[in-house]
Amino acid sequence: MKFIHYSLQFARDLASLLDRWSFTHYCLQFVRGLWSLLVGMKTTLRIFFRRKTTECYPENRKTLTMFDRFCGELILVHNEHNEHKCIACGICEMNCPNGTIRVVSEKVTDPEGKTTRVLQRYEYDLGSCMFCRLCTKTCPHGALAFAPTFEHAVFTRSKLVHQLNREGSKLEKKQKE
Ligand code: SF4
Ligand code: SF4
Repeated sequence: MKFIHYSLQFARDLASLLDRWSFTHYCLQFVRGLWSLLVGMKTTLRIFFRRKTTECYPENRKTLTMFDRFCGELILVHNEHNEHKCIACGICEMNCPNGTIRVVSEKVTDPEGKTTRVLQRYEYDLGSCMFCRLCTKTCPHGALAFAPTFEHAVFTRSKLVHQLNREGSKLEKKQKE
């Protein structure tokens, strides 16, 4: 009889111990979960009040300005008199690794008998340009630059081939010092 009594007592004690242990375990897990939530919220709140770096595009299309080093597309720089600095030497065309540039020129002889190359058409294929800047860096006359334009999506690749010399433009005359 005594043995049964002790066994029952032992079983009751053990059940109570297990109960207490599982409650403690539950509390520990709860505190750990709460702590992890607070750590996550701390990061969320910090980012929430930080200055925004994202742009609301395309709503801000009119005010959006790109950074200085951004290469949108190659341009032949023209001044206010519709003059450019390109002497049609073809150096940019030779240096372009992608065959993106095509310089069409003709030889013109002036009344004094001096023959010079005159630019007819400066073609640039934006679709194959990899924006390496070799053309702008090697142009001996600083005739080229990159514009910060960025909306170039078209449905036909041929529309990405642009003529960079403007209609009626001519070579800028050198200022006499
Ligand atoms: S853009 Fe410059 S490098 Fe290219 S053909 Fe004209 S002058 Fe020569
Ligand atoms: S940036 Fe590079 S790939 Fe593009 S036109 Fe100039 S040289 Fe060619």
